[in-house]
Parts: sequence; C-alpha cells; structure tokens
Amino acid sequence: MKRLMSTALAAFALFYLAGIAAAPETPSKPDARPAVSTAAAPAAAARHFDADEATREWLNTLSPEARAKSDAYFEGGYWLILWDFVVGLAVAGLLLGTGLSRRLRDFNEKLIKLRFLQTALYVAEYILFTTVVTLPWTIYEGYVREHQYGMSNQDLGAFLGDQAKSLLLGLIFGTIVLTVIYAVIRKAPRTWWLWGSLVGVVFIVFGVLIGPTYLEPVFNKFYPLADGPQKQQILSMARANGIPATDVYEFDASKQTKRMSAHVSGLAGTTQISLNDNLINRGSPEEVQAVLGHEMGHYVLNHVFHGIVEFSLLIVVGFAFLKWSFEKLRVRYGQRWGIRDVGDVAGLPLLVALYSVYGFATTPLNNTLTRTQEAEADAFGMNAARQPDGFAQAAIHLSEYRKMEPGKWEEIFFYDHPSGYHRIHRAMVWKAEHLTDADIAAYDAAHPIIAMPPEPAQK
Ligand SMILES: [Zn+2]
Repeated sequence: MKRLMSTALAAFALFYLAGIAAAPETPSKPDARPAVSTAAAPAAAARHFDADEATREWLNTLSPEARAKSDAYFEGGYWLILWDFVVGLAVAGLLLGTGLSRRLRDFNEKLIKLRFLQTALYVAEYILFTTVVTLPWTIYEGYVREHQYGMSNQDLGAFLGDQAKSLLLGLIFGTIVLTVIYAVIRKAPRTWWLWGSLVGVVFIVFGVLIGPTYLEPVFNKFYPLADGPQKQQILSMARANGIPATDVYEFDASKQTKRMSAHVSGLAGTTQISLNDNLINRGSPEEVQAVLGHEMGHYVLNHVFHGIVEFSLLIVVGFAFLKWSFEKLRVRYGQRWGIRDVGDVAGLPLLVALYSVYGFATTPLNNTLTRTQEAEADAFGMNAARQPDGFAQAAIHLSEYRKMEPGKWEEIFFYDHPSGYHRIHRAMVWKAEHLTDADIAAYDAAHPIIAMPPEPAQK
C-alpha cells in the first residue's frame, strides 16, 4: 500500500520523505563483527592486494543459503512493483466501473452547497475507501511478507497502528493538496497541469521542511546519540565536513524492523542526519563510521535539495501526461463513468490511475536518479570516513534484503541504491589506492583478514 499511495497524488509530500536518503542497512544478527583470522598478516607494504579478489572474498562471507534468501526477497519486490500497480488500477476500475465514484460525488453535492467542500469530502472518502479496500494487500506486503523473511519486529496490532497513523496523515495532507489542485484545475482548465504540478511541488517542499520535526516523530522517537567515543568520532567527522554537530540523531526503528538504516531528511534549517538503533547496536564502530560518512555525503552534497528539483521536473512532465491522457479517456468513457470534465472530482480515480501508469513507467528513471545520488554519497563517505572494510561490512549486512549481484539492467531498473557488489568493489578499489596510508595499514595490522566468517543461515 505504501507504494500504491506514493503513486497517488495525495501522498506526494508524505512519502517523498521516505524516498530520499535512506541508506538502509541491516537485519538482525547477534553479532556481526569481523572475526579472528586464520591467515597471518603479511607486512602491509609488501603484501598483495587485489580489489577484485578482495571483493570476492567479502562476497564469499555470505552462505549460499543467505544469498538465495536475499535474492528471493529482493526479486519478489520486482513483482510487488507490478502487483501494486495492478491493485491500484483495479481499485480505480472498481470506483469508475461500478459508478461508485459518480454516486459519491452526487451524494456529496446534495449534502453540501460549497463546491470546495464537496471536493474535500470526496477526496477524504476516496482516501478512506482505497485504504480500506487495499488493506489485505497492505497487510500481506508490509506485515506477512516481512515476517516470512524474518525482517519485522512488529506484531499485527502495532503494524495496524502505524497504518492508522499513515491514514490520518494521508487524510489531512491528501485532502488539502488535492482540494487545492482541483481548485487550480477549475480556475485554469487549459494550463492546470503546470500550476497543479507547482502546487504538488510546494507541498513536497512543505513536507520535507516539517518532516524531521513533525512527521517522522509520529512513527518513531528521535533523540540525540548517546555520549561516548562513538559519538565523539561522529561529531569530529561532522565538524571536519562543515556539518552542524547537533544534527546527529538516533531513532527507535527496532520497534518496527530488524533492518539497520540511516537517513537524511529536512531542508535548510531542518536538515537532520539520523541513524537507527539497529545500526548503533549491531554495527561495528568502523561500519557505523562508514555509514555516517555516507549520510554526511547526502548532507554536504545537498541531495535533499537536488532531489526536490529532479522530482519536481518529473512531476511537471507527469502532470502534462495527465492532462493529455485524461482528456483522451474522458472523451471515450466519460459518459459511462459519469465524469463531466477534468474539474469533476468524480474523475479523481482516473487521474490517480493515470499518474500511477506514469509512475510505473518511470520507475527505472526514478531509481536511477536516486541510485546516482547514493553512489555520490558512497564516494563522499569513503573519503570522509576512510573505512573501506567497514563500508563493505555494511554492504554485506544489507544483503539480507538486497540482492548482492544483479545483472546490469536489473540494477538500472530496480535498484535505488548501488548493488552490494558494486559498493564493495568500489570500497576495495578505494582501499587499493590507499593501502600504504598510515590509518589503512594500521587497520589491516589489527584486522589481519578482511573477511568475516561465513554467515549462519538466517531464520
Ligand atoms: Zn544514502
């Protein structure tokens, strides 16, 4: 349902927040520290180091069972993109085909005189209806399936509680933004696609601005990282990179999931770097530093702002597509579905369905825009944290829910982060170029082998 909603106009602002940033990190494992080696460490200067071999060595730390499971989980996600899309179209078909949408509009018109209130009421009813009708699918996708793969820490009650909060936010923000967009459509019947997309963009900026302070805390508690050497290292890296030091937060994601993750959110004065408690509790110090370096990359490289600009362009094009395609279908089926014109709110299911067609078709583009930023943040983080093995370890942890070695086009189409293989390989290439630096040599001396022992099969 999350993806379904995100294709809906109503959810732009809210779900954009979840879209940007995120360098999710991991599943649960009792302890994932690099283990003692069996091989003796050759002297740093003389030793052989090959980036390809080192990458393979890291990949080999995963058992075939763990790889098979993560491949299955991630490849299943490809189908979810399709099924989310199909479910969304089916709901639109239900509302339009049965005349439910038309009847709802007629009912609201009898109930209230003011047109904008009729629109607002219809939008609220629409959000409520689609949420309830797709609830079984939402539960399968977000709860049952997550438990099947051992990734969720939530019971059904807590999961539904979060869904209720999402619904409430969707009702408030979705109703406002769509009512405003409909007012724009009626005021400017020919150029609404341009002005309407601007309304969408303004709402995204608003959502990103208030996100860290008002939206994210609805679902999780955020608090400053606990004091200690770990925090001092992080603050030092922040100062070194011109980041306001108080902007590093921890949040209690473990109440929902076993994944490790971190993200950057907000804009200008509200930008915030946050790590989840799974990462703090389970990552090695090197791993946490590597992930922090990546997150600081998002901050320093202004990725939230760039993301807004990029996705704004996508939205403008999407609205132009909406105007064109809506008119075509209205001429053909308008009578049957009881849609008078584009300003008639009974056509909302059609607008949302058409936007989901656009969103579905541009999935590879969306992923590539995000993945490009992620690769930039990786490069920045590598130079800032100087923890190639910590970074590789984080990539290994990610493997539980992200297939390690996809094909070239598979990565372009479906990956919103670089694949584990590419992340480790880039880290090892970086390491090869810094092998004789004092800190890297010292790390190698203290950790004679880069690899962890084979991972036990996950539950
Ligand atoms: Zn990231």
